[in-house]
Amino acid sequence: MITLNRAYNFNAGPSALPLPVLQLAQEELVNFKNTGMSVMELSHRSKEFEDVLTHAKETLTELLNIPDTHEILFLQGGASLQFSMIPMNFLAPDQVGAYVLTGSWSEKALKEAKKLGKTAVVASTKEENYRSIPALDDVKLPKEEIGYLHITSNNTIFGTQWADYPSIEGVDLIADMSSDILCRQIDVSKFSLIYAGAQKNLGPSGVTVVILKKELLKRIPEGLPTMLNYETHVKSNSLYNTPPTFGIYMLSLVLDWIKEQGGVKAIEAQNHKKAKLLYTSMERSNGFYTPHATEESRSIMNVTFTLPTDELTTAFLQQAKEKGFVGLAGHRSIGGCRASIYNAVPLEACEALAVFMDEFAQANV
Ligand SMILES: *Cc1c(COP(=O)(O)O)cnc(C)c1O
Repeated sequence: MITLNRAYNFNAGPSALPLPVLQLAQEELVNFKNTGMSVMELSHRSKEFEDVLTHAKETLTELLNIPDTHEILFLQGGASLQFSMIPMNFLAPDQVGAYVLTGSWSEKALKEAKKLGKTAVVASTKEENYRSIPALDDVKLPKEEIGYLHITSNNTIFGTQWADYPSIEGVDLIADMSSDILCRQIDVSKFSLIYAGAQKNLGPSGVTVVILKKELLKRIPEGLPTMLNYETHVKSNSLYNTPPTFGIYMLSLVLDWIKEQGGVKAIEAQNHKKAKLLYTSMERSNGFYTPHATEESRSIMNVTFTLPTDELTTAFLQQAKEKGFVGLAGHRSIGGCRASIYNAVPLEACEALAVFMDEFAQANV
């Protein structure tokens, strides 16, 4: 057997990709489907690449059960450009963009919207350092006409995740799902727009998936820059300009892999199992590890925790590194530790980390 020396990769993003996906991409790299060239060297207008794009859309539709009221787009500029495109396209001058603040990414989304129109913070857990997701009853909309309600479904930095989504009659729900798309089953029809940078749960960086309700397109104002208008990309099947072809190809392989695992339902069960291993280890530690998130708001994608002292945190990260665990330092804004356990992180990596956490706690209490 060949030793691949694959790390236990807990990076927050870009992050782990499924090994079979990397191996298939490697196999096809220099000669993709008898074209005599790699996917990167194909024209984005070629039949072969169109097949890749169509396959990616079909597989995503199947995995998420996307109704035909919605359109799938592959865009560039990351999730961060969506922070601006959403208000540019869907926030009219007489409307208010409603934002729920649950972490740094929601703050950034709000910051961009503020530059483009009227906004309101309709719920926030900032005061408690984003340890939890607001209760649905706490989402209070202002009296003015609402353009949309924006949420961040999973808070990558703080390690919290919405358990249930708000659903308000007549209000378009928009969600940044960059760090938890395809981690569990969702009802896409409840959302007017879902967006996700690919580099956490979908593939390499460089592609952003947008799933949007076609009805929303009617609201786009005249005069937007062509590339920042969703209509451009809908009309041209995400091929208005040169798309990130290799990224879309990799994404299509990741989607095939999810299907092979048994689809989103099976992945969801596996994700719960992985997260439980780490949260249970923390519980067993009798307060040595403190989870950042409250129990009801815990994420199954980003597990955040602190140790009793900075010295112990440093020692933990150092020893973890020596044992081959990568990416466990918390985000600089909250410190502590974070294990990002996206879909592609294998169960064995979480098992190994849980064992290490137990041992480290026992040796240092
Ligand atoms: C990583 C992340 C982003 C930023 O994505 P880019 O593709 O780098 O712009 C936005 N929102 C969330 C929730 C994220 O996890």
